[in-house]
Amino acid sequence: MSDLINASLKELGAALTAKKVSAVELATLFLDRIETLNPGLNAFIALDRDKTLAQARAADETLKVGAGATALTGIPLAHKDIFCTRGWRTSCGSRMLENFISPYDAHVVEKLAAAGMVTLGKLNMDEFAMGSSNETSYFGPVKNPWDVARVPGGSSGGSAAAIAARLAPAATGTDTGGSIRQPAALCGLTGLKPTYGAVSRYGMIAFASSLDQAGPMAKSAEDCALLLTAMAGFDPRDSTSLERPAEDYSRDLEQPLTGLRIGLPREFFGAGMDADVRAAVEAALAEYRKLGATTVEVSLPNSGLSVPAYYVIAPAEASSNLSRFDGVRYGYRAPEYGDLNDMYSKSRAQGFGAEVKRRILIGTYVLSHGYYDAYYLKAQKIRRLIAADFQKAFESCDVIMGPTSPSVAFAFGAKSADPVQMYLSDIYTISTNLAGLPGMSLPCGFGAGNMPVGLQIIGNWFGEAKMLQAAHQYQKATDWHTRMPEEMK
Ligand code: GLN
Repeated sequence: MSDLINASLKELGAALTAKKVSAVELATLFLDRIETLNPGLNAFIALDRDKTLAQARAADETLKVGAGATALTGIPLAHKDIFCTRGWRTSCGSRMLENFISPYDAHVVEKLAAAGMVTLGKLNMDEFAMGSSNETSYFGPVKNPWDVARVPGGSSGGSAAAIAARLAPAATGTDTGGSIRQPAALCGLTGLKPTYGAVSRYGMIAFASSLDQAGPMAKSAEDCALLLTAMAGFDPRDSTSLERPAEDYSRDLEQPLTGLRIGLPREFFGAGMDADVRAAVEAALAEYRKLGATTVEVSLPNSGLSVPAYYVIAPAEASSNLSRFDGVRYGYRAPEYGDLNDMYSKSRAQGFGAEVKRRILIGTYVLSHGYYDAYYLKAQKIRRLIAADFQKAFESCDVIMGPTSPSVAFAFGAKSADPVQMYLSDIYTISTNLAGLPGMSLPCGFGAGNMPVGLQIIGNWFGEAKMLQAAHQYQKATDWHTRMPEEMK
C-alpha cells in the first residue's frame, strides 16, 4: 500500500483498471492517513467518510461496468474550500461562511466528479484566498509537512500540505496572485495556473474576478496535465469563460525539448532572490540546457510595478465582491444588533478577519470619488504595460523561467506583522495574473533548512501544453518531484 501514496495518477488509474486496488480501498488508505496525520497539519477542515466512501463505491461500480470510466475514475482528490460543494461545508477559510453549505457544485467540482474522481474533503486556505502563508485562515494555520514550524505558503496552503504529506494524491487550488504556484513551491509540488478564462470560475468564491483562476496541484506535471484536461473547458455560466475547442494538455508531454527557447527575465534574477533559491534555479536551468533548450535574456521592465498595481486592483475587486456578505441571505449574522445598518456592520465586523478588512478598506478607498483616477485607473494602465512587456519577451522565447518565490518556506509569524513583506512573497508570480498568462511551479531542489525550492515556468496565452512538456521532460531527468517529507512516511 505504501507505494500507492507515492504513485502517479496514471499509476493509480492503471491499478484501478487492473483491479489491483478498488476505489474504496484507495479512499480508505488516504482517509486513514488523514485521520492520523491531519491533526498535526490542519490541512483538511471538512471530512465526511461516509460521503467519500459512497462516491468511491459509485466509482467502483463504473469501473466494473467499464463504460463511462475515464483515466481518473476512482482516484481520490481534495478541494480547496473556496470551491462550492453541494452537501459539504464551503467556508472559504472564513467565519463569515463557517456554516455555509452550498446548494450547488462549482463547475470544477462538477467536472472532476463527472470524470469519476472521489472527494476526500475540503482544504484549509487563507481567508477568502487573501494571504501567502495560510495564517489568515479562521480555522488556524496549516503546517508545512517538510517542517511544521514553517508556513506551507498560501492561499492554497491546505492543498499543498495535503499533497506533500501524501494525504491526497491531488488537489484543486486557485491563483489570484500566486496562490497555486507559491504554496506548490514551498511544499515541493507541481501546480499550474491556467490562462485566464480557460477554467470556469462558476461556483468558485470570488476574490478578484479579473485575476482569479482555478488550477490543479499534484506531485508532477504529468498529473497536472491529466487534471487540467478534466477541469478546463467552456462554461456559459462564467461570462469570462473562453469558447475554445477542448484540449488534451498531455499531448506534448513526450516531445523532446531540443530547440526550446527559455527566456530569463533580467528583473527576476537581480537582488531580492535568496542565494539558496538562486542556486537551485540556476542548476535547473543548466539541466534544461543539457536537455537541448537554449536560454536567452529577456526584459520585463514594468514587473517591479506588479505588486503595487495588484494591491490596488485586487482589493478594489474584492471590496466589490465581498459586499454580498451582509448577513442577510446567508453567511454569518451578528447575534445582536439594532437597525438594518447596524446588522450589516456588526455582521461584517465579526464575520471577517483582519486581512480581509484591510483589503476591503484599501479597495473602497481606491475606488472612491477623487482617488479612482489616481489609483485604480493608473493601476489598470500599469497592468496593460505589464501584459505588453510579456508579449515583447515572447517574441524571442517560447517559455519564461525564473524563481517562483524569493525564499523557501518561512517560519510562522516571520512576516505576519508586516503586510508589505508578506505581499512581496508573490513578487515573481503576480505579473502573470495581471497579464492573464498561464504559469506553473515545479520542484527543483532544496534550500536552507532542507526546504523545497520551486522553479517557475510562464507560458504565453494558451501555452499550457508547452509548459507542461517543459516541466515533464525535466521531471523525467530529475527526481525532486518524487521526494516526500521523512516525517510523513
Ligand atoms: N498572496 C496574494 C494575496 O494575498 C495572492 C493570493 C492568491 O493568489 N489568492 O492576495
